Parts: sequence; C-alpha cells; structure tokens
Amino acid sequence: MLGEFYSRGYHASVRYTTEEEKFQFPNADLAREESLPVRLAKKRFYIHQIAFLLFPGNFIDVSGLIIGKGGTYSQAPTRDRADDKSFFPTQLLSTLANVSQDHAIYSNHMEVVKYALGVYRKRNLCGCEICKKHQKNHDRFNFRNFKGVVKNLENAGIFVPIDDESDFCLTPEGNYVFFEIDYLDPKRVAKFVSNKKTVPKETAHSVTKLLARIEELKRITITPASHP
Ligand SMILES: [Zn+2]
Ligand SMILES: [Zn+2]
Repeated sequence: MLGEFYSRGYHASVRYTTEEEKFQFPNADLAREESLPVRLAKKRFYIHQIAFLLFPGNFIDVSGLIIGKGGTYSQAPTRDRADDKSFFPTQLLSTLANVSQDHAIYSNHMEVVKYALGVYRKRNLCGCEICKKHQKNHDRFNFRNFKGVVKNLENAGIFVPIDDESDFCLTPEGNYVFFEIDYLDPKRVAKFVSNKKTVPKETAHSVTKLLARIEELKRITITPASHP
C-alpha cells in the first residue's frame, strides 16, 4: 500500500511513508521515489547525510534508503560499471522539514516558463490563495541573507539548487531548508571538517567516514540479484 501523495517533480515524486516503512525507519515521514542506478542512489544518500550532519538547520534528515523490491541486490568488489545502466526503484526516506504544509501545494502549482535564449525555469505564477500567501517564503526581495547561506554551504563543499523554488523553503525560524543537493565536492568537505574550531570532533569523524563510503562506491560493482 502506498502512502499519501505529497509532491511531484520531474524525476521524483514524494509521498508520506507507509506503516511498513515507518516500522523500519521510525523517524521517516516522507519517501522520495525515483528510478536510479544503485551507485547513484547510495551516493545521494551519503551526500544528504553529510549535509545534514554539517548543517542540520538547512537540510532534511535522511534516515534510510530502500532499493528495489525488498532491497534485492548484492555487491561484488570489481570495477565493472555496466550496472550503472540498470535503473531501480529507490525510496529515500526523510523527516518532514519544518516548513509550512503549503510548500507542497506551492510546488505542485508551479509551471515551466520559457525565458529568452532557450532558458526554462520552474516558476509559481499561480494566483490561488495558498500560493499568494506562501509566495513570501520565496520572494526574492525577501531573500534575507539567502546568498550568504548558499555561499556558506558552498564554502563547505555543498552546492544546492537555487533556481527551482520547489527545492527549498524558509522555516518559521528563518532558516532556508534545502530538499535537494546538486553536487558535493569531497575535497572541499574534507578541508572544511578539518577545521577543529568550527566542526566538532564527532561530526568530523562521521563525515570523514561517509566521504570514505562515497569514495568506495567508485570501486564496487552492484549486481542486482533479481535482475531479469
Ligand atoms: Zn515554500
Ligand atoms: Zn496555487
């Protein structure tokens, strides 16, 4: 049984977790469903974990990853990359961010707008009451310190999407929460966590372990056990 629908994007849709998933991952409220190669799904999972460890106020807490039906895949230590062409249904489980419930509606009412020079951008031009009210959380003139927050994350090696308003929102406390991460620069992250003045020892240790897992992903091959 599938959980209730939350929001739908181009590549992924997000729904509330089922009772089964909740039993496995008690902290998870949402499941992001997307078809991905296993290596990429795992990499994303680790990237989200790193971002949340370093900036818990700016990212969702990702607590689990389910790959395939019942997670039916196995790993073998070879360098074969052929498996990257196989896509599997994946579910990335996370907590619900402390943003207004209206954000999901606002995201669902967005449309793709074509600008000059073939630039397409997702915008909310909806005039419904909810969107009009929620707009203030995304209004570029009210982007208190938005650039500063983004720059701060980039200094730590975490690059977030800033053009698609469905990917982030402002919390009542005034934090920008990002639901997506574009790219993580492992070298920059490693440098950032090496600063003992700004990053607690335990956090640096956990992040370093996750960076090693991302590195390890380059070496393993993931063979689907139930591959047809
Ligand atoms: Zn929002
Ligand atoms: Zn609307």
